[in-house]
Amino acid sequence: MDLGLTAKVALVTAASQGLGRASADALAREGMQVAICARDEAVTRRVAEELHAATGARVEGFVCDLTDSAAISIMVDAVLARFGTVHVLVNNAGGPPPGQFADVSDADWQRAFELTLMSQVRMTRAVLPAMRAQRWGRVINLSSYSVKQPIPDIVLSNSLRLGGIGWAKSIASSLAADNVLINTIATGWTLTDRVAQMATSRAAAGERDSSAVLAEIAAGIPLKRLARPEEIADVVAFLASERASYITGTVIPVDGGIIQSPT
Ligand code: NAD
Repeated sequence: MDLGLTAKVALVTAASQGLGRASADALAREGMQVAICARDEAVTRRVAEELHAATGARVEGFVCDLTDSAAISIMVDAVLARFGTVHVLVNNAGGPPPGQFADVSDADWQRAFELTLMSQVRMTRAVLPAMRAQRWGRVINLSSYSVKQPIPDIVLSNSLRLGGIGWAKSIASSLAADNVLINTIATGWTLTDRVAQMATSRAAAGERDSSAVLAEIAAGIPLKRLARPEEIADVVAFLASERASYITGTVIPVDGGIIQSPT
């Protein structure tokens, strides 16, 4: 299938590892020019070089803390100056910390709001004028299956990610007028560095092996395994493509069947 992405420009946030990096890799393999951002300059530069070496695509790294509104404006201006435009925005960020309702403070709620919801809002606002002007754009929000089915002990994610769904649906009609499509991926358990670290710390707390923790998670998934990051990134590439030209305002689970809701 020709995805029609060759030479178009993608901007992938929080792309130094995990789902962001895998998404940048998939888009670069489709021949896109890719801008990535993350917080650490040396890491960002190294990852951009590695992605270029692996794919042959133009990949450039930019520094940005996604909780910082001014930093987002500066980074997007720099990307637009270097690449001329942005066709595809992949809104990814680190997840808010775990915790039950009684564990999280107002400051935790505020920081999670900035990281999880406002980063998507600000990034999208910053790239929209270029997308509208060229009457072509894709905004792909990487979220969690928690938007369909709350996950125990992560009240911040369960709450604030739903705000992202309401926001994306609210603006989808207005964006569609300029052929800018916005969709959200409800990601299931995926074996990234974050999940590997989580398994290690859960194992330490419970005095068992991290592979036993991962096996326990896998047992609760109908496909009986965690996703590989590339399996999420493939859906990102499809949603970015010309082939996804009639999909907007929706939530697409890539979850191995873990969501129990029929809709
Ligand atoms: P990860 O921890 O491996 O990667 C997150 C990336 O975000 C890192 O590169 C990190 O440096 C970056 N980041 C964190 N805070 C940032 C900030 N303020 N500014 C800029 N960059 C920042 O995580 P992942 O597993 O790739 O997950 C990515 C997102 O998907 C997270 O929001 C996570 O909660 C969500 N998610 C992951 C899974 C999973 O199973 N891996 C499932 C559902 C949802």
